[in-house]
Amino acid sequence: MTKYILVSGGVVSGIGKGVIASSTGLLLKTAGLKVTAIKIDPYMNIDAGTMRPSEHGEVYVLNDGGEVDLDLGNYERYLDVTLSRDNNITTGKVYRDVIEKERRGDYLGKTVQIVPHLTNAIQEWIERVSKIPADETGTEPDVCIVELGGTVGDIESAPFVEAMRQFQFRVGHENFALIHVSLVPDMHGEQKTKPTQTTVHALRGLGLLPDLIACRLTVSKPLETATKEKISMFCHVHPDQVIGVHDLASVYHVPLLLQSQGIVKYLRKRLNLDSVNISPAMLERGQSIENRWKQMTTGQERFFETVSIALVGKYTDFKDSYMSVVKSLEHSALRCQRRLIIHWVESENLQPEMQEQEPAKYHDAWRLVVGADGILVPGGFGSRGIEGMILAIKWAREQKKPFLGICLGFQCAVIEWCRNVLGLQGSSSTNILLYIGANSAEFVPDSPSSPSVVVFMPEISKTHMGGTMRLGLRPTVFSEGTESWSKVRALYAGAGKIWERHRHRYEISPPHVEQIEASGLPFIGKDEKGERMQCLELLDHPYFVGLQAHPEFCTRPLNPSPPFLGFVAAACGPSVLQAQMEAQRKTFKPPHPEHAMVSEALLRNEGEPLPTETPQANGVANGSA
Ligand code: GLN
Repeated sequence: MTKYILVSGGVVSGIGKGVIASSTGLLLKTAGLKVTAIKIDPYMNIDAGTMRPSEHGEVYVLNDGGEVDLDLGNYERYLDVTLSRDNNITTGKVYRDVIEKERRGDYLGKTVQIVPHLTNAIQEWIERVSKIPADETGTEPDVCIVELGGTVGDIESAPFVEAMRQFQFRVGHENFALIHVSLVPDMHGEQKTKPTQTTVHALRGLGLLPDLIACRLTVSKPLETATKEKISMFCHVHPDQVIGVHDLASVYHVPLLLQSQGIVKYLRKRLNLDSVNISPAMLERGQSIENRWKQMTTGQERFFETVSIALVGKYTDFKDSYMSVVKSLEHSALRCQRRLIIHWVESENLQPEMQEQEPAKYHDAWRLVVGADGILVPGGFGSRGIEGMILAIKWAREQKKPFLGICLGFQCAVIEWCRNVLGLQGSSSTNILLYIGANSAEFVPDSPSSPSVVVFMPEISKTHMGGTMRLGLRPTVFSEGTESWSKVRALYAGAGKIWERHRHRYEISPPHVEQIEASGLPFIGKDEKGERMQCLELLDHPYFVGLQAHPEFCTRPLNPSPPFLGFVAAACGPSVLQAQMEAQRKTFKPPHPEHAMVSEALLRNEGEPLPTETPQANGVANGSA
């Protein structure tokens, strides 16, 4: 029987419920258990694909092409698992499920209602997905963490709360535990318990009793014993069931903090975890994860040398927009034993017109770019700030500063090359006087007289936005001869074919490829048919790499994403890069299960008619993968 741990939240959202939930999962993994996770997002959207990163944080992409909430990224990274689109439940998805059944006539003439039809659909969904193998063992998980987004008491989450209330009886008391995450505000040094009392009261009123109350303090002072006792008293739980989670040096310390408060011991008893059959191999795996995790977090505090990275993007006000990119940089810096400093640069501020309009911002932005050890241009959409990104790339290329371009950053690197090295006179963008030359059809309409160097991919829908991009895990094949010189290939341990997740609508224009390569910018990685350009690398440069894919979605704390690792290592210096390239040859392991890498099915899906015409049409995702 699968054990379920529901993690709900009260008072306010955004207090780190996801980190607490994934840390709990990690701890159970160290105990030898196989853990998976489900995130419930009580919004009407079918998925996160159409949501704005500046409002909701990054759109995280899964192997199967699912565009999901960024918390799924937390789970994949902490638990070292591979999840599917069904691991993210939204109101839109369950309603669609129920409505489809109703249209098929499955309800046999009954009135279809929130209770029991929607609540049953939610429970069946959770039960089904909790059994899908998620880790390298390929077997059914022992524990499923279910994180309920939002806060208890919202109109949106009501059907899910009711479903979970029923669920505890469906699976039985010893298979269901609840962690409620609440906020304990610190007011001038005094820890306030009233919001926690209120939210626990509301939770009980809805029929859910917390087994553990995780008290988030958004200060570095730990939960005081007196506060703990007060919460225990007023919320009707034992003091051992009250856990404090204050601000720590890094989120990687959270599992250790939870462990120190006996959470595993409590859950072991509460969920009768000793009844789960844990093999000696799994125990050993757990032990090794625990040791390496501890080593990583304690080691982190001893780094004195720094590495600074300029992240030149357009959503820099809301750092969650680049969550996985930041994680990849963090994991890489950890490996290189450096303290990471990110210079957040709003790309628009680098543009020459800002010199007059906002001189302070302009000079500040350039100071950050030129002062950084490496320059990163991440993914993005739309034309705002593009020219600034192109200028930063030009600087990195010419000044031989380590550069990494991801998706849009890769496309911009090609545009920069075409303008400044190849001298292509393409269309011009926002200001005709300032920016003339090659461009992407995403920013300036394509015209026969000035064809774009980055073009709309033929198979992509022009009318539907949700789930219609080129999505999910796809292979990149390195060109012959690159094994002798390519740094990025060496970082993938010399593999001839690599797998990363994609999310894009545009590609490098095929008719331009020959000319670009002939001028000295090699596309060292292409799709399996050799038609789509997916990776570039300059030969005569400390590290100048661009990828059409988003390798940041597959980074792991103890197994950093290779292109990011190379980038950060190069930013630390050539000898560090050399050392990491050598280390990777021995230690790199692709974080994907064997069955995820299915090129034949992929090839069949590519070039099919417009994806929106079929209900499940996200490239790789169609069940065949
Ligand atoms: N906007 C670009 C495209 O659609 C890049 C996408 C991205 O960076 N994810 O191709």
